[in-house]
Amino acid sequence: MWQSDDKAPDDSETVNLPDLTEKSALSGKGAKEEKHFTQPPPRYSESSLIKELEEKGIGRPSTYASILSTIQDRKYVEKKENRFFPTELGDIVTDLLVQSFSEVLDVKFTAHLEDQLDQIEEGKANWVQTLKDFYAPFEKELATAAEKMRNIKREETVTDLKCPKCEKPIILKWGKNGKFAACQGYPDCRFTSEYQVDEGKVKLVQQQVTEEKCPACGAAMAVKTGRFGKFLACSSYPTCKTTKPITTGIDCPDCKEGQLSEKRTRFGKVFYSCTKYPNCKYAMWDKPIKGRPCPECQYPFLAEHYTKKEGASIRCPNKECGFTEKVEMPAATS
Ligand SMILES: [Zn+2]
Ligand SMILES: [Zn+2]
Ligand SMILES: [Zn+2]
Ligand SMILES: [Zn+2]
Repeated sequence: MWQSDDKAPDDSETVNLPDLTEKSALSGKGAKEEKHFTQPPPRYSESSLIKELEEKGIGRPSTYASILSTIQDRKYVEKKENRFFPTELGDIVTDLLVQSFSEVLDVKFTAHLEDQLDQIEEGKANWVQTLKDFYAPFEKELATAAEKMRNIKREETVTDLKCPKCEKPIILKWGKNGKFAACQGYPDCRFTSEYQVDEGKVKLVQQQVTEEKCPACGAAMAVKTGRFGKFLACSSYPTCKTTKPITTGIDCPDCKEGQLSEKRTRFGKVFYSCTKYPNCKYAMWDKPIKGRPCPECQYPFLAEHYTKKEGASIRCPNKECGFTEKVEMPAATS
């Protein structure tokens, strides 16, 4: 169901989806731009995917949001410019599931099951019989799949690259966060790296190592980019799985134990929240400025505020204070 290549999703009608208000701001412009391009093929946006689910009778309004987050959390899709693109993992999982569970993976099956559930709810169908009808053939498919399905997590691809530490070949394998490059000499050599494929050639991507040391194993922490923005991860991943948020170096004014760190919402909007979350819920949209206390109320820092209409300003985050300073140039430094 991810192949939208032959069909242009239409964004012009907005779908009502309560909790996703930030998304609505993105709709109009994207749709207009899309009409000028015939290549590359259009991909689903959140709203066009929900529209498709509605049309095909899959899911309910109450489950659309969790469908959208599940396919991203499991890294089956990646969002680029508000469109979903299948990842390599997404393509493989879809192929494997369709091969082994062709009936269950059929769109009509899912829609039909939802119909049957409605009938059970209305007392028109017997739930025991309905379950039996479903489960008997499904159980067989499960057993066959357990035996015959490819185990991609154990599959490795040998590249023509050599390990920079021990000269053994570099292989690509599957980890929790998708595919990564590793030394074939594991566990004697624990070299791993992220990689990218350029014109069919695998290239290792150097980790951006910081001066910060891993609190668990002492190795250097490296900058990684995840769904919610940049974060620090131990450079000896996957041996050590320590991760840390990148902080602004500003102490949380609320709990005074955490620091403020840059985060991203599911929709890509940047905000700043306390590293002690969920114990401390302090969060703000404006970018805090280190070392500039409010001249009026002595709040520990001021913050950059930006609106399209009024441009940039520097404000005191303390709502009762109201201190504001106009910034003429967005690139102004203090
Ligand atoms: Zn090695
Ligand atoms: Zn570590
Ligand atoms: Zn806090
Ligand atoms: Zn103030």
